[in-house]
Amino acid sequence: MKWVSTRRNSPPVPFIDALFAGTAPDGGLYFPQQFDPLPASSLERIRSADLAEIGTIVGTHLLTGEITEQEMGPIVRSALDFAIPLVQVSDRAWALELSHGPTLAFKDVGARVQARLLHHFTDGTPLTILVATSGDTGSAVAQAFHGVPDSRVFVLYPEGQVTDVQEAQMASLGGNITAVAVAGTFDDCQGLVKQAFADDELRKRVWLTPANSINLGRLLPQVIYYFLLARLARSSDDEGLIVSVPSGNFGNLTAGLIAKRIGLPVRGFIAATNVNDVVPQYLRSGIYSPRASVRTVANAMDVGAPSNFERIRALYDDDLDRMREDLVGAAFEDTAVVAEIGRVYREHGYLLDPHGAIAWLALQQHLAQSPRAMGVFLATAHPAKFREVVEPAIGQAVPLPATLAEALSRPRSSARLRVDYSALVDLVLS
Ligand SMILES: *Cc1c(COP(=O)(O)O)cnc(C)c1O
Repeated sequence: MKWVSTRRNSPPVPFIDALFAGTAPDGGLYFPQQFDPLPASSLERIRSADLAEIGTIVGTHLLTGEITEQEMGPIVRSALDFAIPLVQVSDRAWALELSHGPTLAFKDVGARVQARLLHHFTDGTPLTILVATSGDTGSAVAQAFHGVPDSRVFVLYPEGQVTDVQEAQMASLGGNITAVAVAGTFDDCQGLVKQAFADDELRKRVWLTPANSINLGRLLPQVIYYFLLARLARSSDDEGLIVSVPSGNFGNLTAGLIAKRIGLPVRGFIAATNVNDVVPQYLRSGIYSPRASVRTVANAMDVGAPSNFERIRALYDDDLDRMREDLVGAAFEDTAVVAEIGRVYREHGYLLDPHGAIAWLALQQHLAQSPRAMGVFLATAHPAKFREVVEPAIGQAVPLPATLAEALSRPRSSARLRVDYSALVDLVLS
């Protein structure tokens, strides 16, 4: 299997090159050259398999010729060591709960598999991961690489400007993870990291590895969990299964569309957004106009220029009519989201987080028009992660999950850094 750029102006590369490169030389995003459907026998196995087995089958299929089942098995087993339950919420709607990983959000899936893939494809040369964060990305990357052999992670965050929980998740791990409190802003952190990646002298001495979210190593693992829906898809009637995906940068939805392309038997997808609705607008009008983002209660989806949408357009050769056969859009305002969290808790006893609530709302709208369809919405974050929104909506406290309570109680230590590039180099080489 070869990997091509969405902009078609770079040569095809093997997976290992795409994995370590991040973006393609022409500025595009890497993408499979062709999509081979899963053999019927694999789909049959998937219907009764557990998560790790599904990950092994799907991962090996996506990386045909580049990794074996024997190699893929241990990677997914160690990365996906938490549950991804499919929970029935109402008579025709199920939640796929992607929120039980160490940082309580679905990004754990991509980041944890990516970390292990990077390690697998090295020759034992130690990796150095440098990442700047305003909070969430850094904690997911730190947790993902924690304990992965031959890797060191430096997470730069603006001192005093991340939440207590985020700092606990980065600074209480120790081992191969160094949290770095920078006496500056997030932009200062990002500037230092960019300077390091542009520093050829430093890059001769340490193998700097990108761990960004547009990387294939992060995207492909997300295809895996969609196949947990295969067992539901079989029992649904001919209107088929609809999957609603709460979207920001659209990596999650891209993975779902890839799953369908290689054989997941679902009817189609809903691109569910908050008022940052560039993609739902495009699906309606055919006009794509990225713009500055607006803050909402579902802040992990506050994106005005979604990075992965380029991949979705490439999947459909930029043919909007074909895209519309698989995809519809829906967008919701904060007031509707908060009210729905309260209503669903009272009527169904199910606690939504703001992101999952948007996907649920979009699904309800769709099911109301399709009386025999069934649907799944992706619950991308744990409600306890968004207590300041969820608690007023339901009028009661949300207990902290054990993993989070434990992180908060562990001792923390961060290296301190001035906004000074030579000090960063000293730290990385120390
Ligand atoms: C990142 C994130 C999203 C959006 O996912 P994309 O792949 O960027 O579309 C949705 N919900 C939560 C909780 C997230 O952290």
